[in-house]
Amino acid sequence: MDDIAKVVKEHTFGTWRKQRDWNPITVTKAEGVYFYDSQGKRYLDLSSQLVNVNLGYGNKRVIESIKEQLDKLQYISPAFATEVRMKAVKSLLKVMPRSITKFFFSTSGTEANEAAIKIARLVKNPKYKIIARYRSYHGSTYGSISLTGDYRRWFAEPHIPGGVVRIPEPYCFRCPLKLKYPDCNLACANYVEYVIRNEHNVAGIILEPITGTNGVVVPPKEYLPTVRKIANENDVLFIADEVMTGWGRTEEWFAVNTWGIEPDILTTAKSATASYVPIGITGVSKEIGEFFEDNFFAHGHTFEAHPISLSAIPAVIEEFERLDLLSHVKAMGKYLGERLMELKERHKSIGDVRGVGLFWAVEFVKDKNNTPFATYEDKYKGNTSSVDKVAKKLLDEGVYVFNGPSWFVISPPLIIKKEEIDEAIDKLDKVISELDKEYRE
Ligand code: PLP
Repeated sequence: MDDIAKVVKEHTFGTWRKQRDWNPITVTKAEGVYFYDSQGKRYLDLSSQLVNVNLGYGNKRVIESIKEQLDKLQYISPAFATEVRMKAVKSLLKVMPRSITKFFFSTSGTEANEAAIKIARLVKNPKYKIIARYRSYHGSTYGSISLTGDYRRWFAEPHIPGGVVRIPEPYCFRCPLKLKYPDCNLACANYVEYVIRNEHNVAGIILEPITGTNGVVVPPKEYLPTVRKIANENDVLFIADEVMTGWGRTEEWFAVNTWGIEPDILTTAKSATASYVPIGITGVSKEIGEFFEDNFFAHGHTFEAHPISLSAIPAVIEEFERLDLLSHVKAMGKYLGERLMELKERHKSIGDVRGVGLFWAVEFVKDKNNTPFATYEDKYKGNTSSVDKVAKKLLDEGVYVFNGPSWFVISPPLIIKKEEIDEAIDKLDKVISELDKEYRE
């Protein structure tokens, strides 16, 4: 560890971990799909950090638009109107699902979801319950971690606020209901109606259209339309958490576009600014917007609608258009998917490869019963898994990947080229052999 990393480790927190195990690498610069450490070593970013650096590093146009805004107006209370806010909104309206017409701006995905549940409860009062899925992540503060279904929620019990009801998810590789698609007749989706009827006071359902940190789970094609229909029929708000899936990651501006879903509330963050500046966005429908004409909008932050954050949004959207990025994601996504499937053929420790666009998971198993290398229980205890160790080996080889207990999330910057994918696949091929050695027939 160099001197920078030592001070950082001693006086700041490494998150979601025991501090003793944290050995940060000092990063000094980044360009395109690569970042560099203080020794000059180069790393290919195969996960866009936390699935958020969608335009890669060093995009001059985005940087320039932020600089211009800094020169013009760095901050003003969100109670005032600004040109940059008008421009951000006009750009957003071009790319958002048609149902979303009004926005609340914050600075993170967590805050975007906090606002979403508060809004849902205000609009549907006295209904207050929110349905969420077990295999989900919606943020780290008390409200959003209470929505979250994975092990990170366990650290924050007992939860505030109450009223979150959890349901199983469409994770067909290990179906929580022990059924097989399509014979299951979408039991997990239809169960939503049963829960709504029996819970009675349900205001909204929140879900990641494609589950992100919990292993890139792409639902069967009927799943989201079925849930949307059930929400409509039962007067329940459909909240799409697109914090990770938005902004071209899945070949569409937003993942809901894949299924033609029009959400009542859409939350997004991370790559709305390509992560050049922090942002959180809670978009709502016209009906919800109108509700607050004569009802108190009881929410806000000092850094809400921050001019510097907003300045990046139009620039990001222009970059998507200039680079025809959605088409590029489609082409590169197809290629990446094929190359990952080849790896699956070669490595018995790869149990499943799934994904769409440039959003993929490689899930590892340690035997023919598809036993995972580690579970949420292991993560909760702070245990290091073989998959963690192999991710570290990959980093030593010069490729960074964001991993779960038994999977890698493969989600490179959307600007990635074929030869960069090939470079990553070669390195993956090498380190995954380590996991094959632990596989038991
Ligand atoms: N929602 C989803 C689907 C996420 O993936 C994340 C973060 O990974 C969040 C919410 C929380 O966003 P943030 O880390 O910006 O607070």
